[in-house]
Amino acid sequence: MTELGDGTRCVHGGGPAPGVGEPLHPGPVLSSTFELGLPGDPAGADFYGRAGNPTWRVLESAIGGLEGGDCTLFASGMAATAAVLLSCARGGEVVLPSDGYYLARALAADLGLPVRLVPTTLAAEAPMHDVALVLLETPSNPGLDVCDIVVVAARAHAAGALVAVDNTTATPLGQRPLELGADLVVASDTKALAGHGDVVLGHVTTADPALAARLRDTRTRGGAVPGPMEVWLAHRGLGTLDLRLERQAANARALATALRGHPAVRDVRWPGLADDPAHAVAARQMRRWNGVLRFTLRDPAAVGAFLAASRFVESATSFGGLRTSADRRERWGDDVASGLVRLSAGCEDTADLVEDVLAALD
Ligand SMILES: *Cc1c(COP(=O)(O)O)cnc(C)c1O
Repeated sequence: MTELGDGTRCVHGGGPAPGVGEPLHPGPVLSSTFELGLPGDPAGADFYGRAGNPTWRVLESAIGGLEGGDCTLFASGMAATAAVLLSCARGGEVVLPSDGYYLARALAADLGLPVRLVPTTLAAEAPMHDVALVLLETPSNPGLDVCDIVVVAARAHAAGALVAVDNTTATPLGQRPLELGADLVVASDTKALAGHGDVVLGHVTTADPALAARLRDTRTRGGAVPGPMEVWLAHRGLGTLDLRLERQAANARALATALRGHPAVRDVRWPGLADDPAHAVAARQMRRWNGVLRFTLRDPAAVGAFLAASRFVESATSFGGLRTSADRRERWGDDVASGLVRLSAGCEDTADLVEDVLAALD
């Protein structure tokens, strides 16, 4: 059978069809505790809200279906990263991207893990001896560089290391790291997956049942559990991920093309552009593009003037939401030019957005 399309998979992922008279759109199960029954009764599916929840399982099934593995939700993307570092990074060094999400490096340092920092573009050549875990971020945030997951996974596995890919920017529709050889996918669903800027959530997916069990134990013991309401909202958001990505990627392509032609703008990067340095590898391993691009203005004052003049570009961190937003990354300590802007193209009409951005730059 041919594989179903992304839109169908997003709309229908997540669970058994309802029985007659059951809700087509069930609400979140908010109960923290579940009926245990009497001694001798068979165990139920759930007993306590930190260990399990039916609303979690629906979204876990939907995301796991898209990514080809067993998904475990966490309270945030960082809780998901923490669970991977706690449960998969012992007994060797951890390779982390020097240009990836800054809190992953800070957390590994807090945990006292021996860390080897490698730029994303050099990950395929990184030495792998004595490594327990390689965490990749491709495309990287905020630089939007990429690395070849197939090559890194083969080299890491030959050295006995596990490979995790932070798939936040790509989304489950944009890239399937498990099919490319990774052992784990980790992601912040706060971004495009939930997609409406009203939820903090994360997940880890793996096709290895032993790793999945370890991650669930880490969640239950560490307690970084998601709220059922957040999970329910994220599942509602996931239903339109295909539609939102399509508009966001079209907007990103139009903006990247327009920005390149503007004299005040340097270093426009969006992996979907045919001559972007990341394009060849990205086109080989990604299934589709997304709305995240970056460019550099002269200095922080120029970024401020751009944001003040724009009608539609919000000054905000995070990305992947309905509204276009821009974030000057040096303020968070990223090792980038002071005028570097990560821009998340939203779902506005392309013509309105391009006109607004060009006018704000002038
Ligand atoms: C936002 C982000 C995270 C952290 O996720 P939270 O949900 O904010 O905890 C991790 N990795 C990347 C690439 C991110 O963009």
